[in-house]
Amino acid sequence: ALVSAAGLGLVDTRAAVTADPSRRDPDELRALAERAGRELEGAPALEIARWAAETFGDRFCVTSSMADAVLAHLVSRVAPGVDVVFLDTGLHFPETLAVRDEVARTLPVNVRSIRPRLTVGQQDGEYGPRLFSRSPDECCQLRKVEPLERALTGYDAWAAGLRRDESPTRANTPVVTFDPRRGKVKVNPIAAWTQADVDAYIGRWNVPVNELFRRGYGSIGCWPCTRRTGAGEDPRAGRWAMFEKTECGLHV
Ligand code: SF4
Repeated sequence: ALVSAAGLGLVDTRAAVTADPSRRDPDELRALAERAGRELEGAPALEIARWAAETFGDRFCVTSSMADAVLAHLVSRVAPGVDVVFLDTGLHFPETLAVRDEVARTLPVNVRSIRPRLTVGQQDGEYGPRLFSRSPDECCQLRKVEPLERALTGYDAWAAGLRRDESPTRANTPVVTFDPRRGKVKVNPIAAWTQADVDAYIGRWNVPVNELFRRGYGSIGCWPCTRRTGAGEDPRAGRWAMFEKTECGLHV
């Protein structure tokens, strides 16, 4: 069931489902993903999103960090009512939650805010305070990776807003691939877009965008692990800047 909370934010209280009988065979999904990855390389982002929406129907969702609403907006044009999964870690900037609420209020999508099993206070009690400053991988596992896996139950495919120009670690991002860890198809419709493409889309469609970009942040995650970036730095240089860590573990 979905219950209203935090204004227009929605808190998804669905319990984890361990068995999903209507789920498609992972080997079939893998073959589908590999073929689509080849055939859709170079296709416009909207066509990639349309393929996913038509192929998977309501077993397809979008994930969004609410840095901006470009992907949610794009997919909503071919799949109005699509689920948009947001991982509400409890450690987001207020500006990020404002984008989440604006998306829920203004776009034809169904925002699902997924919370970790432990509140920040409970996690402090079990693991000690400021786990992010000592063991960010463990913190991301608890507050992002496990919640995403729980959230993706019931879907065969999910879309993410990864782009090749964001960082060297994302330079080979395929437009469609198979995620073996989760046994699902992962769709990256805007993988080939540049920052200029994103900016043009935001301007053309007046898409909600996180206020923090205007204040010098190149990439936006939880507040304890995000700093402003300087001129010439890659946009993700401000994430986990104290650690040899560039990804939270969602995109493996
Ligand atoms: Fe924890 Fe930082 Fe990961 Fe957020 S980004 S879950 S605060 S380690």
